[in-house]
Amino acid sequence: MENTLRARKIKDGTVIDHLNANTAFPVLKLLGLLGETQNVLTVLINVESQKLGRKDLIKIEGRELNPREADLISIISPNATINVIRNFSVVEKKRVGLPNVLKGVKCPNPTCITNTNEPASAEFTVIKNKDTLFRCKYCNRQFDITTIRKVILEKQFL
Ligand SMILES: [Zn+2]
Repeated sequence: MENTLRARKIKDGTVIDHLNANTAFPVLKLLGLLGETQNVLTVLINVESQKLGRKDLIKIEGRELNPREADLISIISPNATINVIRNFSVVEKKRVGLPNVLKGVKCPNPTCITNTNEPASAEFTVIKNKDTLFRCKYCNRQFDITTIRKVILEKQFL
């Protein structure tokens, strides 16, 4: 039974592989697929992985991701790979990568001008070091990836 489920091939859709263990639910939440989806989903949590030790994997039937969703997934789980499936074949396989600029995510600084009524939308420069930092273009404050991840999971988009 277990093997049958794991081997199930999808006709059209997306396979998100190499998710860090226990990030499948946050990613499903981010994609709006928790609790209100019509799509057929296969979710594996904490399966063995040569690369990661343990990993999660999500198969979503009948849906492809847009570049924005891939950027946000890269912040939740930087090792993830996204496979696009059409007519049972993998037509595109890509590793997610942190974007250079992150737009449309609320600045965690409550006094930032983007959190007032000014018509400025949030924008961060992504500084990719060992510890990735996100620097707000408006208040110039820097935030670590954990803080930005929290904002994304709370869906505080601007
Ligand atoms: Zn700011």
